[in-house]
Amino acid sequence: MRRVLDIKKDNACESGKNEKMKKIVTFSAEETQAAGAEYAKELKDGDVVLLSGGLGAGKTTFVKGVARGLGITAEVTSPTYAYMNDYGRLHHFDCYRLSSGEDAEALGLTDLFGDGICLIEWPENIAQALPQTVRRVVFSADGDKREIVFFDETEPFSDCARADGDNGRASDKNDANGGGKNEDGQSGRRV
Ligand code: ADP
Ligand code: MG
Repeated sequence: MRRVLDIKKDNACESGKNEKMKKIVTFSAEETQAAGAEYAKELKDGDVVLLSGGLGAGKTTFVKGVARGLGITAEVTSPTYAYMNDYGRLHHFDCYRLSSGEDAEALGLTDLFGDGICLIEWPENIAQALPQTVRRVVFSADGDKREIVFFDETEPFSDCARADGDNGRASDKNDANGGGKNEDGQSGRRV
């Protein structure tokens, strides 16, 4: 039987901005995709969404759902050889292999901010180049369970948005899924 998403609203988080936070729990990749498709309804052109969490935490799975929710039919895959995959209105960044905001600028990635919807995996690696105001989604894994915390209109890395404790920084890229498996079931340093 399909489990219903456990949706909690939590206003306990206070920062300088009027930040709204929502937390859900999913129990399968399909549920995380469904959460992404639902989230897509809130998105508008110009939004920059930071996706934080360790390897296997569900970031790319969520992006697949967002794409579906936006009506994009192309298959969404990890930008393995590029740093960004373009799906028209949706730009999907993977900054795992970048080490500074300057890298992102030199590659022209930051030129896309403000154009359509940008979803960014490993945003911590290009922190200096991120816009002042972003949306943020933080993923953490425990077996097949994923806790997904949504922050609206937040600063890139305000204390309040650090729901995952270590913030998934590049210096601590632990596998959030425990086994280092990617969606093809292979071990890998990046999913
Ligand atoms: P990331 O992009 O954060 O590294 P992926 O989305 O590529 O992670 O991979 C998540 C992996 O975890 C996939 O193999 C997916 O099938 C698996 N998985 C298991 N349970 C879930 C869940 N509840 N939500 C998302 N993915 C899940
Ligand atoms: Mg990924």
